[in-house]
Amino acid sequence: MTAKVLLPGAMNDRGQPTTLGVMGGGQLGRMFVQAAQAMGYFTAVLDPDPASPAGLVAHWHIQTPYDDEQGLAQLMQRCDAITTEFENVPAPALVTLGAHRPVAPAASCVAVAQDRIQEKAHFVQCGPVSGVYPAPYAAIESDALLAAAPADLLPGILKTARLGYDGKGQVRVNDRAGLAAAWERLGRVPCVLEKLLPLQAECSVIVARGADGQVVTFPVQKNTHHDGILAVTEVFGGAVPAALAERARASTAAIARHLNYVGVLCVEYFVVDDGRGGSDLVVNEMAPRPHNSGHHTQDACDLSQFEAQVRALAGLPLPEPRQHSPAIMLNLLGDLWFNPNGVRAQASEQPVSPPWAQVLALPGTHLHLYGKLSARPGRKMGHLNITGESVQQVRETAARALALLGLPPLA
Ligand code: ADP
Ligand code: MG
Repeated sequence: MTAKVLLPGAMNDRGQPTTLGVMGGGQLGRMFVQAAQAMGYFTAVLDPDPASPAGLVAHWHIQTPYDDEQGLAQLMQRCDAITTEFENVPAPALVTLGAHRPVAPAASCVAVAQDRIQEKAHFVQCGPVSGVYPAPYAAIESDALLAAAPADLLPGILKTARLGYDGKGQVRVNDRAGLAAAWERLGRVPCVLEKLLPLQAECSVIVARGADGQVVTFPVQKNTHHDGILAVTEVFGGAVPAALAERARASTAAIARHLNYVGVLCVEYFVVDDGRGGSDLVVNEMAPRPHNSGHHTQDACDLSQFEAQVRALAGLPLPEPRQHSPAIMLNLLGDLWFNPNGVRAQASEQPVSPPWAQVLALPGTHLHLYGKLSARPGRKMGHLNITGESVQQVRETAARALALLGLPPLA
């Protein structure tokens, strides 16, 4: 169904308050729900987990599997428009919903982002317009394709085409024997072999595109990962060289347009050595939703990525976002609860809350915890946004917060 403007605080033609729904109840869904509620929308979440972070704060929480017909029917009954907060929501469920309600992003766009083979093919197609290409790669879906993989992709990284995240579902391989063993290890599922590139840095760009085709872009985010999980995002002029940042923004907008995308889209890039003493940009992957690297927009921009998601879904105007403060975001993983003052506790010890009072005594700190009831190592529990008058001040505050939390210093 095509979108019409869904004004907040109004009654719909079923005599209910205008309600926005989300497939998935994780932290991204929770922050979408909170942004929607701040604007006066009612909200509904479909997630089987009774303690899901978004389910806990939505007006309605439908606790069924994502492909449950009754659950989907209830969601449609409640909602005037529906979005998603994770890319692995079954595409057929979005097709069902999309037949009766505006759904953004569309099932077809989510399907491309769910599959690295389709995703990379899309990036290659966009190349002539976006000016940015993916790393050299080959799809590995059969013994014949495995044998035919070009030698110049080695050393490389073998990644499952579907369901990988936070560095899971990928294996580094040095030679043909390692490649064959890795494909066995990954269960011989469809994969992509990618050439291992000399990364200078990683960055990402978030865009929002309305049903009217208007695209707005957020400033480029510089990302640092630890153990395959995002640890720190830095966003200020100069964090990424200006010329590359401009190319990344233009490329992301082109990728969204080419998909006829509606909603919030994040595209990840590598900054690589161009072999001539300079830097080049390579497109890595995309997420059909707000992204961990865009959380700073909640406190450092006049439009957050979640409000942008609400506006795109509701057909409201999307003004160009303005960043009003340099920002650093620190990801808060469950490890922190077992790591008081930086001393790793025994695994059997009870979780202990990190020293929030001390962290919040630092100027320009904004704590966002996701309401998850138990901390586990590697689990995303929240994030800390840091804003300030200058890059130097924000970096100093981040350094102090990292020290209080027992985390490694900024690079
Ligand atoms: P995920 O879905 O787990 O985020 P990514 O494709 O983003 O998967 O890979 C995770 C991380 O692995 C990247 O952020 C980057 O640090 C590293 N990486 C991935 N592909 C390459 C590559 N071709 N060359 C070098 N490093 C890579
Ligand atoms: Mg990634």
